[in-house]
Parts: sequence; C-alpha cells; structure tokens
Amino acid sequence: SEEKSLNFIEEIVEADLREGKYDKIITRFPPEPNGFLHIGHASSICLNFGLTEKFKGYTNLRFDDTNPVTEETMYVDAIKKDIAWLGFRWENEHFASDYFDTLYAYAVKLIEKGLAYVDDLSAEELAKQKGTPTEPGVNSPFRDRSVAENLDLFERMKAGEFADGSHTLRAKIDMAHVNMIMRDPILYRIKHAKHHRTGDKWCVYPMYDFAHGQSDAIEHVTHSVCTLEFVPHRDLYNWLIEKLEIYPSKQYEFARRNVNFTVTSKRKLLQLVNEKFVSGWDDPRMPTISGLRRRGFTPSSIRNFCERIGIAKRDNLIEYSLLEFFIREDLNKTSWRRMAVLDPIKMVITNYPEGKEELLRGENNPEVEGHDGEREIPFSRELWIEREDFMENPPKKFFRLGPGLMSRLKHAYIVRCDDFVKDAEGNVIEIHCTYFPESKSGEDTSGLKVKGTMHWVSVKHAKTAEVRLYDRLFTVEEPDREEGDFKDYINPESLVVIKKAYIEPDLANAQKQLAEHPDRRYQFIRKGYFCVDKDSTDEHLVFNRTATLKDTWAK
Ligand code: ATP
Ligand code: MG
Ligand code: MG
Repeated sequence: SEEKSLNFIEEIVEADLREGKYDKIITRFPPEPNGFLHIGHASSICLNFGLTEKFKGYTNLRFDDTNPVTEETMYVDAIKKDIAWLGFRWENEHFASDYFDTLYAYAVKLIEKGLAYVDDLSAEELAKQKGTPTEPGVNSPFRDRSVAENLDLFERMKAGEFADGSHTLRAKIDMAHVNMIMRDPILYRIKHAKHHRTGDKWCVYPMYDFAHGQSDAIEHVTHSVCTLEFVPHRDLYNWLIEKLEIYPSKQYEFARRNVNFTVTSKRKLLQLVNEKFVSGWDDPRMPTISGLRRRGFTPSSIRNFCERIGIAKRDNLIEYSLLEFFIREDLNKTSWRRMAVLDPIKMVITNYPEGKEELLRGENNPEVEGHDGEREIPFSRELWIEREDFMENPPKKFFRLGPGLMSRLKHAYIVRCDDFVKDAEGNVIEIHCTYFPESKSGEDTSGLKVKGTMHWVSVKHAKTAEVRLYDRLFTVEEPDREEGDFKDYINPESLVVIKKAYIEPDLANAQKQLAEHPDRRYQFIRKGYFCVDKDSTDEHLVFNRTATLKDTWAK
C-alpha cells in the first residue's frame, strides 16, 4: 500500500512538509457527543488518524461539545470505545467546553477591537435582515454600540441577566458580504441549560463557528479537515483567526460519505433508536460502528473499506455491498467452519445401523496452514438437513436431494434419496436415504461421483441456538431522499429470528470460548458468517449473521 498514490489531502500535507511549512502535522477528529459514530465518521477517523500515521505528527480527539442541550457523557464514552476499537490512538483528549474561558476572553478581545457587538434582535428579526445571496443584508440598529456598552452587555449576558434568545453577540464584518455567513454572524447565544461537563457555570455558549477554529488554534492543529458543508464557513474561520491573532490552523474539506440502503445522520439514527425501530444504537442493522461491531464486522474490514473508498471532493453514495465485500474477504481467511441447520427437516439413513454412532473429523479452517486444528463431529442414523436441500420434483440441475438423487454429506458419506414421508397436509416431514460406507470423506473408494455437498447435524447430538439473520435496514437506496418520512421505508424483513436452529455439538462451546478468543467468528457452511451476539448465554446461544457467503444483492 506504500505504492498507492496519495489522496488530495495527503498531497497537501506532503507538500507542506516538503516545503518546510511545518516540522510535524497535527490533525484532530472532532465529534459532537450527540450520538454514536457511524460508518461516515469512520471515513473521517481513518483520514485524520491516517494522515498522522503516514506523516510525522499526531491526532487529537476533541469533543465538540458547545451545544449543552443535545450532548451526553454516554456518547463520549461510546465514541472513545469505537475509535479505540477501530485501532486508532489519539495523542490528547480535549473538550471544546474546556476552552469556554479562553473563548469568552477571545470574544471580549473582539469587542475591544470593535469587531463584535451585542444585538438585541430576535432570531426571526436577524433572519429578515440577512438579505439573500443576491441582495445585501441590513445593518442592525444595535450595530454601532460603543465598546463599553458592548462589554457591559456581554458581561451581563454571561451573568444570567437576560432570557434565552434576547441577546446575541455578533461579529462586526459586513452585511453586504457576498458570503452570507460573513454577514455579522452570531458568535454567542444565551442558553440557560445544564452542560454535561460544565454544569450550570455558563448560560452563554459559543456557536460552532466561534469554537471550532479557535479550538483548532489552541491545539495548534495544522490541517483541520472537515466535510464540504463547511466550505462557506472557511472565510469566517480565517477571519476570526486573523482578527484574534491566534495560531493559523488551515481548514480543508472533503465530501461526506453516505452508504446506500441506510441513513448516516445522527439525528435520524437517534429517531430509529427512540422510536424503537431498532433495539438500540448497537442494533446489528445500524450503520453505527457499534452496530457493525455487534454484527460481527472487524476493525480491519472497516478500515479497508474506508481506505478503498478513499476521499472525494464531491458527495457520493457508496454501495453497502462494498462493506460486505471487505468483511467476507476478512472472515473467509479467519473464520472457523461449522455446521448449523437453520430450517431443519429430518433425514433417516435406513441402512445405517440403529444405535450406531461414529465420530468424524472436520478441519476448523481450510484457508490456513494446519487448518487451525480440527473438531469431532458425531454422525448417526438420523440427521437434520436443510429443508431447501430436498425437492420432491427437482429440476435438472438440482445437485442435492430428491427421489433417486445422490449428494455428499460434508465430512461424511455419499447418500442417495430413496423415499420421503408426508404428513396429513401433504408437507414432506422426513426423507429416507441409503448411505455408501466406502464413500467416507478422505478415504472414498466408492467410485461414485456427485456434484452437491450438504451440511447436516446428527439429531441425537444436535444442540440448539437462536440465529438472527439481517438484511438491509431500508428497502430503498436513499431513504432520506424519498417522499414522506424516511422511516416509511424500513425493510420489514431486515431482521429474521430463527428461534431454534440445530448446531453441531462443538459449536455449543462458542459462548464459553469467547473468554479466550473474543474475536472468534464462524462460517456456518453454506449459510454465511456468524458471530456470538451479546444477548447470548451459556444456556441460550444467540448468533448474528454478519454476512451471507455471496453477494445476494449483486445487480
Ligand atoms: P451528523 O449529521 O451525523 O450529526 P456531524 O457532521 O454533525 O454528522 P460530527 O460529530 O460533527 O457529526 O462529526 C465529526 C466529524 O466527522 C466531522 O469532522 C464531520 O465532518 C465528520 N463526518 C460526519 N459525518 C460524516 C460522513 N458521513 N462522512 C465523512 N465524514 C463525516
Ligand atoms: Mg458537526
Ligand atoms: Mg450533527
């Protein structure tokens, strides 16, 4: 991967270092702690931390917690856990709220320089005075207050004398500026609200634009990377740094990453959680890092995905299938193969002696040298097989079982279907076969040739587990672009629960083995990749399907 060409932000950094503008670079990842991180954030994390892994420097984690109303400590903890799980280490942990005193002093400095004023207009009045992209705005009647009056009013705003919304602090720039954001933007607003860290200390809070760039400067961030919606904010970012005479951090923008068949907006994900469309932020159908983790995704699959999609200058939609491609690639190499029957029907091997049983052997992982060892699989006269592996009237190219058809039982013998039994309603309930004793896997001298291989579990030895199968959370590619509410497009089959699947006995240890092998994943032969869910107990095993073996959504 050293050979790979640099993305456009890496090129900027590389040139800056080559030209000696910096001797090391500092980036930051600045989440607002108002929700869990999602796959779009992963892209930003990989970019910011990736820059300082590739080039000399470090990355800070900074919680952008300037809005007291939506932020919670629970989110702070979840965000830290997710970044660490992805495999990144931040140099310093900061909170924008730790800078509230400094930011307040910066505001005072602007007032003293005649570059900020207290306005008494309401939000609606301000909006009316903003003008349009083609027409200039109107100066506020409060724009020419004296420095002394502004200092006094701002002090009293801070002291809690005024109600929410009654006053704001605005930068004094230009109400006719071509960039509407430069038309005397609000820097501070009054909010009598408890903050998750500063409690009741403050009732004035800085706006994003008066916190973000200033925090960057305080930390000497060299390259402040954000998403495209901040392009128009860059003028203000630079203006404030210049007027405050603080460290000149530079802002760069890249396109947001969105994935199809899901939504990547914390506000919308929160609705799914609050309105119980999902079981929580870590529901395995959620595009959150915690949801993907619970679903069975590995850190490397997510990092490889982010690396592959790279970064762009234009918004674009990424295929969810690409994410699945990377987890399949990963799990194919590492997962242990096991047999589980999800939709069982009984097979009786009529020429296998009653009461007899034997232990067969199956490798754990054919993809690695030594196969990671093997396990024993009990075999007997009655087996569970997958209902879809039998057809009463099979078409020509059906290579599993039907009257007269032969197939191989994985790690066992070749069987031929002779007969089947139906219940009163005409449903097939039992399949009768004969087996060929000389056809045992690994020592087959039968000379028989069959095309199909089936998985199975011995009825007498089978254990049970709950198995949860997931599909796309939404039925449309871009739910937030459809008519009506995005939640109208939730896929009713996004979760299918199989209460009682039959699993081979060795798999019954999956829960216990987690203690020693927390990363152990399984391939249920022919059924997909699975992991143990957090709801699982020794008595009641629960597996999540991470992905099917093949892309069933390929166009
Ligand atoms: P949301 O709309 O989900 O709340 P946000 O941008 O408000 O997103 P932040 O917590 O502010 O969320 O994001 C932290 C960082 O992650 C920011 O730099 C932001 O630009 C970046 N980011 C957020 N969403 C995406 C995305 N879909 N793709 C790439 N980067 C993103
Ligand atoms: Mg944000
Ligand atoms: Mg947001």
